Amino acid sequence: MTDDAPGYGFDTLQVHAGARPDPATGARQTPIYQTTAYVFRDADHAAALFNLQEVGYIYSRLTNPTVAVLQERMATLEGGVGAVCCSSGHAAQIMALFPLMGPGLNVVVSTRLYGGSITQFSQTIKRFGWSARFVDFDDVEAVAAAIDDDTRAVFCESIANPGGYVTDLPAIAAVADKAGLPLIVDNTSATPYLCKPIEHGATLVVHSMTKYLTGNGTVTGGVVVDSGRFDWSASGKFPSLSEPEPAYHGLKFHETFGNLAFTFHSIAIGLRDLGMTMNPQAAHYTLMGIETLSLRMQRHTENAQKVAEWLEADPRIAAVTYAGLPSSPYHDRAARLFPKGTGGLFTIALKGGYAACVKLVESLELFSHVANLGDTRSLVIHSASTTHRQLTEEQQIAAGAGPDVVRISIGIEDADDLIRDLDQALAKATA
Ligand SMILES: *Cc1c(COP(=O)(O)O)cnc(C)c1O
Repeated sequence: MTDDAPGYGFDTLQVHAGARPDPATGARQTPIYQTTAYVFRDADHAAALFNLQEVGYIYSRLTNPTVAVLQERMATLEGGVGAVCCSSGHAAQIMALFPLMGPGLNVVVSTRLYGGSITQFSQTIKRFGWSARFVDFDDVEAVAAAIDDDTRAVFCESIANPGGYVTDLPAIAAVADKAGLPLIVDNTSATPYLCKPIEHGATLVVHSMTKYLTGNGTVTGGVVVDSGRFDWSASGKFPSLSEPEPAYHGLKFHETFGNLAFTFHSIAIGLRDLGMTMNPQAAHYTLMGIETLSLRMQRHTENAQKVAEWLEADPRIAAVTYAGLPSSPYHDRAARLFPKGTGGLFTIALKGGYAACVKLVESLELFSHVANLGDTRSLVIHSASTTHRQLTEEQQIAAGAGPDVVRISIGIEDADDLIRDLDQALAKATA
């Protein structure tokens, strides 16, 4: 595929974007470039690369040809201008904030986030002198009110993990835009097949590629995709991107690289100095996964709809939070923003409470009890005793992971088999 191939559909791009036959061997599949370093043509070539005057490969902490294919594929699928891959989804979140933040500055974030993200934002980023302000993103005015002169970004998930909550991205993007701030959207649960946040006004999109993008539970990985749309020089609030960079002889990233400033900064400073690099093996597995992303997401969504409908009709269940159900408060918003469906992730509340939840996860046979989601296999977890364990009960409930809640990640198996398994496990859990 050539570099600019406008007009190709998603199914074509998920197979081809960023990849071409290997120039050295003609290998049709993207080779795993398992190398640490790359030979310079001569001393001048090396100097030009180190000065960022020429783009090329130096050392695999910064760039690697296999990882570069994945970066281009993700930028294309999300509709961005560039992307930087990282070692995990959590690494991607730090990489997204790193050029924007500094000591004393804050980020306004949704209360409905992956449990690990809540811990990362409420505890760990304080060590950098950064802070997070948690707000209910259904209250758009509260989001606006939480922004002050020290805010540098707004952060939310498109479809929030552990499931069922759908963010009104255009409304949140309008708030961020009015405040002159970038909107960062974690699009892990939706994937670019179901939602492209940049089309709804996001500045940066982050993913845990560990989940649906790789799709089979083999590797951890993350990515930050840049829309290329934000004016980093407009307000003076983003000096890392707009002001001279001492480590590169006073180069100004925004002035020099234009709409690729964020991407270049993330590689030349972020990966160089933070070292949260994706390895070429992981990029290979993720590229393999993405080739079938749309097919899997269709099946995940279809299966989730069937299983959620069955569960909602079952008297042992107190609530099902799937946004594809007409009973969901987010059903209309989901239909507007996610016309292809809302993925494979939702939660159920059991009438039997905490004890019944534990018994349910222990009694399931096809579903695996693991701290993961977005696998071809169906997975289940009791968030309150695991991923959301570090949170207070109040935070758990705000995040949709109260003590009586089980998170379900529906795989691509036969929906009838999944329903049979849930039926027998519910019988044991409520006996
Ligand atoms: C898993 C997950 C993360 C963290 O990603 P890792 O690859 O595990 O570091 C972040 N956000 C969401 C929505 C996730 O599901």
